[in-house]
Amino acid sequence: MAARPRLTIDIVTLFPSMFTGPFTESLLARAQKEGLLKIRLHSLREWSDDPRHGKVDDRLFGGGAGMLIKAEPVVRAIQALAGKRKRTKPWVVYLSPQGRVLTQSLAKTLVRKKHLIFICGHYEGIDERAMKWIDEEVSIGDYVLTGGELPAMVVTDAMARFVPGVVGDPDSVLNDSFSAGLLDTPHYTRPSVWRGRKVPAVLLSGNHQAIRKWREEKAWEVTRNKKPALVKSRKRN
Ligand code: SAM
Repeated sequence: MAARPRLTIDIVTLFPSMFTGPFTESLLARAQKEGLLKIRLHSLREWSDDPRHGKVDDRLFGGGAGMLIKAEPVVRAIQALAGKRKRTKPWVVYLSPQGRVLTQSLAKTLVRKKHLIFICGHYEGIDERAMKWIDEEVSIGDYVLTGGELPAMVVTDAMARFVPGVVGDPDSVLNDSFSAGLLDTPHYTRPSVWRGRKVPAVLLSGNHQAIRKWREEKAWEVTRNKKPALVKSRKRN
């Protein structure tokens, strides 16, 4: 019997089929199959206040280019997915370039919620009056994409790595870049000599203490070279 999922994510989007691929392959597909994670995709049009045409957008008051997603379908979706008798209130996230930028630590915080609702915007975004129903805005970086679908996939993927059992070896998540405030150490696989380039001898030595020390030193070196700001903020903490 599949385990009870630790995390349910309801994703509300105008384009549910965009999620095929990222959610139906590799670790995310396996995690859902094994019941570690429940991802439900919903078309925002289900909650249109114009059911005949399924329209959810309209022009901007005050003029200007583009269309805007109306508040009513967004709030109807949130209320329907939150349910009435649920003991835990879901955490509602609007994927938005104006939000808090996703980091490893934000992914770890979000994964602790039992139920998340992701609202994917499109066009010029959503009517500001719907913001009262949003708990948090999350961005995947300081640039503007056409819709919240790719950000929702990115946030889901980053969070899924923290769900126990999704990544086979939990050590690999602990050693990932940013998890301990540093970047990951360099890694090598067979052959031990490739095009004249050798794998560092210590990694072939079988001496686990020496390997651990080498990896730790390399993680510091790589971080100093590639992201010196991380080293500075680690020293401050
Ligand atoms: N007019 C909005 C602004 O400048 O803040 C941008 C709207 S954008 C074209 C359409 C939708 O894409 C947004 O509502 C949001 O859901 C999503 N989006 C775009 N860039 C994003 C980012 N960097 N992170 C998260 N979501 C983003």
